[in-house]
Amino acid sequence: KEMHLDRDYELVMTPHVVSEEIYRRTGHLQAYQDVMFPGMEEDGQAFRVRPMNCPGHAMIYKTRTRSYRDLPLRYAELGTVYRYEKSGVLHGLMRVRGFTIDDSHIFVEPDDAEREIVEVFHFGMEWLRSFGFDDFDIYLSTRPDKYVGEISDWDKATSALRTALEKTGVEFGLDEGGGAFYGPKIDVKVKDSLGRLWQCMTIQFDFNLPREERLDIEYTGRDNSPHRPYVVHRALMGSVERFLGVLIEHYGGDFPLWL
Ligand code: ZN
Repeated sequence: KEMHLDRDYELVMTPHVVSEEIYRRTGHLQAYQDVMFPGMEEDGQAFRVRPMNCPGHAMIYKTRTRSYRDLPLRYAELGTVYRYEKSGVLHGLMRVRGFTIDDSHIFVEPDDAEREIVEVFHFGMEWLRSFGFDDFDIYLSTRPDKYVGEISDWDKATSALRTALEKTGVEFGLDEGGGAFYGPKIDVKVKDSLGRLWQCMTIQFDFNLPREERLDIEYTGRDNSPHRPYVVHRALMGSVERFLGVLIEHYGGDFPLWL
């Protein structure tokens, strides 16, 4: 929490039960239906336990008018999410049905997105190194077969991520078609003491969520007219439960004293 506050994040909490309509608008209901728990109904309105934290943070953003002076706005939450994994794939701490993402959504002016991504990347690497990991596999994951939005936006976003990665000077591979349905992403896997790879940090670039037909997110620009920000979704550990599992494996249960 201190590391987040030092970097101008606001720590927030959002509801675990969310109107289904919001997930219809974001596209999650269509893309993630098979991992979402069934809906419930109250007063004729449908609700879901959340599979993602993004809409809650977007709703906080939308509680007031934002201007370019407010951006970047960085919300962070230890956000527990619920996903219906088939019983056969459940596995210790590594794959569970309720887990906590060290989640953050950063609302940023399009021109600042690349700089923000570089900062998030350095933050994440510092974070992972502080737990004793020093071997990483880094991927740029591009447009999947099932995607939303315009190809030209995808190309722009992918090249912003690529430039950001190149600026950090790290070596990275390409995961063709491995992006999220709403945008490309950077994935960082850590190598544990036995050389096994575990997915941890992810930085996702989203130009779709703010669109009018999605969550309709705006800010007032320098020209006094409305513009749409980009959203950067990021997690450093990913699932906190799985990260703990990875740490147990990495240290063979013999943790450093501070941990
Ligand atoms: Zn998100």
